[in-house]
Amino acid sequence: MSETLTIALSKGRIYEETMPLLAHAGIVPKDDPETSRKLILDTNHDDVKLVIIRATDVPTYVQYGAADIGVAGKDVLLEHGGEGLYEPLDLEIAKCRLMTAGPVGAKEPEGRLRIATKFVNCARRYYAEQGKQVEVIKLYGSMELAPLVGLADFIIDVVDTGNTLKANGLEPLEHIADISSRLVVNKASMKMKHARVKKLIDQIAEAVKNK
Ligand code: AMP
Repeated sequence: MSETLTIALSKGRIYEETMPLLAHAGIVPKDDPETSRKLILDTNHDDVKLVIIRATDVPTYVQYGAADIGVAGKDVLLEHGGEGLYEPLDLEIAKCRLMTAGPVGAKEPEGRLRIATKFVNCARRYYAEQGKQVEVIKLYGSMELAPLVGLADFIIDVVDTGNTLKANGLEPLEHIADISSRLVVNKASMKMKHARVKKLIDQIAEAVKNK
């Protein structure tokens, strides 16, 4: 048996939309993470395992080589910085936009803006590029609440239909980046396990093209 190839995925949308792509590459997990409590899933190949982790942890596992390959949203990768990773393939799944948003019709207040977000690095970078002084307030969820209760002037979040913003009296404002899930590969794995990793990338790329 060859050395194990470990693939890091998060539960939910990314897992569901990645499964058909992996199936095209002949990889089928033996358990379903929605019903199993296992964090390491065996597959139909003895030398391929899946690890099920939080979406924001995927780049870290791959960066340190705890997983050879992972699937992560571009939002998560922008926030992580991409150190130690190759990003060879856009899977064109879980598409959305990273945007600023604020109360409908709100004017930009004078002075230093307060921005609530879980994407603090993206926020700092975005406003620095615009030469704007902002105070970035880190939140872990429900960013939409922050402008409603006076915690922040604006938020930065991922937006799909915009329904969540609308339901909370907010509107999308500035577009920061188009987001989709990407295949990421540990830099050492790309060298040391090149033939297997390359074959997997090619098979998944073909599945993406035929979708
Ligand atoms: P929306 O369709 O804009 O109402 O999106 C609902 C919520 O789902 C947003 O506030 C986001 O936090 C989240 N969301 C939507 N699309 C994605 C995505 N592709 N990746 C991660 N989170 C998403």
